[in-house]
Amino acid sequence: MDDTVTFGDIYRARRAVHGRVRRTPLVPSPSLGEHAAAPVYLKLEHQQLTGSFKLRGATNAVANLDAAQRRRGAVGFSTGNHGRGLAYACRAAGVRCVICMSRLVPRNKVQAIEALGAEVRIVGDSQDDAEREVARLVAEEEMTLVSPFDDPHVIAGQGTLGLEIVAELADVDRVVVPLSGGGLVAGVARAVKTLRPQARVVGVTMERGAAMYASQQAGRPVPVEELPSLADALGGGIGAENRYTFAMVHELVDDLVLVSEAEIAAAIHHAYWQEQQIVEGAGAVGIAALMAARIPAAGATVIVTSGGNIDMGLHHRVVSGEPVDLSAAHA
Ligand SMILES: *Cc1c(COP(=O)(O)O)cnc(C)c1O
Repeated sequence: MDDTVTFGDIYRARRAVHGRVRRTPLVPSPSLGEHAAAPVYLKLEHQQLTGSFKLRGATNAVANLDAAQRRRGAVGFSTGNHGRGLAYACRAAGVRCVICMSRLVPRNKVQAIEALGAEVRIVGDSQDDAEREVARLVAEEEMTLVSPFDDPHVIAGQGTLGLEIVAELADVDRVVVPLSGGGLVAGVARAVKTLRPQARVVGVTMERGAAMYASQQAGRPVPVEELPSLADALGGGIGAENRYTFAMVHELVDDLVLVSEAEIAAAIHHAYWQEQQIVEGAGAVGIAALMAARIPAAGATVIVTSGGNIDMGLHHRVVSGEPVDLSAAHA
């Protein structure tokens, strides 16, 4: 089968990202271990450079550009963690990076991308307008589009996180991974299950707009309505023309679990007060699933906290136990 990512791809990615991304800590969590009545560890990937694992995939994708592609540059349309990762990876490699976004994107997100050295191109009033500009840059200027998840180099780069887990905890029984488009869980599951076939991999998403979950249920990629969520980095569809992650999730992921907004809030709260970690909503869904007993207790468990880029005003309200108005938080 061609449209998949192998362990060899991930092994090569490890060399490509070595020294360019941080090897993040794996730490025991006694309080979550008590919850689960099993040893629980946190893979603190929210401490990655740029604040999320997306840097791994972007770094590997940029490392795999050929000389002509490097000259013309890379382009993307994510305003969030993938945009940050791609901008950072391109600057580190001396490659031009253009991120397209609509006029509706808040100023602070524009500035965060610009501060990482990317050109921001503001086009139109919707995500669709931004995507059309990306398509134009690819067609007319021959720039390379780097997808946030459905790209073999991106998936292989995310898989390096799985290698790190097994290197430190050879007898891991279960890995719990936040899930949106599925690049992270696909890469991690390929790495972990190659080295330790009996380990189970669990993907966790928010109830509000779970595109991969709905697609696996339907047996094909389906669109879902996008709703405001504390786990905003998990929003968006998996693409009607999905090539890699839909099949890899079907092949490799043992359980798909959904968590509610209240459970995500409780997990952000727990991460702060019990683990002394600032984790964004998307990064906290694994903790949420464990605390809400949505995953069965079974052996040595690793929970990936995948990102930390949260608006600090919103974070303050959540950890203070104040009610959160998400429509305002995301305006
Ligand atoms: C993108 C993202 C995810 C989901 O990753 P996919 O590869 O799209 O499944 C999870 N957590 C954070 C913080 C993210 O930025």
